[in-house]
Amino acid sequence: MIIGSHVQMKAPDFLAGSVKEALSYEANALMLYTGAPQNTKRRPLEEMKIDEAQKLMKENGIPMEHMIIHAPYLINPANSVKPEVSELATQFLTSEMQRTAAIGAKYIVLHPGSYTTTDLETGIRTIISCLNGLDIPEGIVICLETMAGKGSEVGFRFEHLAEIIAHMDHPEHFGVCLDTCHISDAGYDVSDFDSVLDEFDRVIGLDRLHIIHLNDSKNECGARKDRHANLGQGTIGFDTLCHIAHHPRTAHIPKILETPYIDGEPPYGREIRMLKEKVFEDMTKAQ
Ligand SMILES: [Zn+2]
Repeated sequence: MIIGSHVQMKAPDFLAGSVKEALSYEANALMLYTGAPQNTKRRPLEEMKIDEAQKLMKENGIPMEHMIIHAPYLINPANSVKPEVSELATQFLTSEMQRTAAIGAKYIVLHPGSYTTTDLETGIRTIISCLNGLDIPEGIVICLETMAGKGSEVGFRFEHLAEIIAHMDHPEHFGVCLDTCHISDAGYDVSDFDSVLDEFDRVIGLDRLHIIHLNDSKNECGARKDRHANLGQGTIGFDTLCHIAHHPRTAHIPKILETPYIDGEPPYGREIRMLKEKVFEDMTKAQ
């Protein structure tokens, strides 16, 4: 099982600290924002302790493609109403891809965005033109994330992502990140994960699936809300999430936890242990 979580990247250890955090959870994958997820301020590369991070990855036998970068969520390539927003998306994604390449990572997770006051088709067309305007470095793959369908979000049907990828000038630079909370909120029944994978394969192609975000959901299937819950504390439940984590058809794909902190503490060490041992432990009770 390739399993990890969202980890922080902060002073003084930056990227090396991110790897240390992942190792403290006994993870063999990790995902991070290269700065605050809600803004586009970024540190210069030379301060990020990249060499030390790469050394730690190597020493612990973790391939660099299991270090995943998440683009900040304010990046909205679907917005055609405010040109400065899509301009920022192009600008920021260009620098983010350079950072990802310098770090030695491969995958960048990107939310397709929200069409705001236009409509779904306009949103999809705006995303296509934004992404086709990018000069993507060799070896970098942008993974469009499946969304919950909250508000005017694009990407809550596999068909949306398939349409975007079908129109890419360089489709080899694009893949998908599947979020269990989001697709459940979007109306897919994840308790029948084989059928979900069959549908994904029919619409997008399973060879495009590179990352799974493993989260429980606070809301019922189809609620289109997007609120993550800790494993076994939501409507998906531990058994289904554990089944997905160990599913042979996605064994080669990193699973990343983005579950909420409990009492200000990251739950990831315990959640990863639960998945490895296949035993549910009520996280709301004291350790
Ligand atoms: Zn995401």
